[in-house]
Amino acid sequence: MSDPTSRGAIKALGAQLDADPALRATWVARAEARGVTVAPDLPGKKLVRLVLDRAADAQVRTNPIARDEAFTCSHCARAVPLGGKRPRDHCPWCLHSRHVDVVPGDRAATCGGLLVPVALHPGDKSLDIVYRCAACGAERRNRVLDDLDMPDSPSAVRALVRAPDVTQLRD
Ligand SMILES: [Zn+2]
Ligand SMILES: [Zn+2]
Repeated sequence: MSDPTSRGAIKALGAQLDADPALRATWVARAEARGVTVAPDLPGKKLVRLVLDRAADAQVRTNPIARDEAFTCSHCARAVPLGGKRPRDHCPWCLHSRHVDVVPGDRAATCGGLLVPVALHPGDKSLDIVYRCAACGAERRNRVLDDLDMPDSPSAVRALVRAPDVTQLRD
C-alpha cells in the first residue's frame, strides 16, 4: 500500500490506525525508525502526518521550486493574486502564510498549519519574514516581497520589527 498524499486519504488512514492496533504499530515503528518517540495517545491522523513529514524532510531535494499560485489568505480571507515576478508565498496584507512546503515551492509538507509572522531577519540579499507554524511549531522564512505589483504592506512589515519574538530567534 502506498502512502496517502491527500488530506482526505491521511484522515482516512488515521481513522484506520485508531481502529487497528497492529496497523498503528507499523506506523509507530516507522516513526521510531526516524528517531521519534510516539505518545500512546497520539491520534492516528497525527501519527501519519508525523511520519510523512519526516520522510519528506529526509528527501535530498534542497533547491527551491518557483511555484507561483493565487490563494485565499487563511488569516484575513483576502484573495491573494499571483506574484508574477516572484512566487507570492504569503499574504501582502497580513503577511500570514501556510505550512505547505518542506523546501520552498515543493508542497511536500502535510501539516497545512497557519504560518504566523513573528519577526524580521536580514537575509543575504533581502529581508526575511520569520514564521512560526501555529499547528506544529516549525520555523520558516520567506523573503519580504517589496518589488511586485502588489508589494507587502509596509506597515505590516514594520510592525514585525517590534514583534516580541525578535530576541528569541535561532540561527
Ligand atoms: Zn492575509
Ligand atoms: Zn506546521
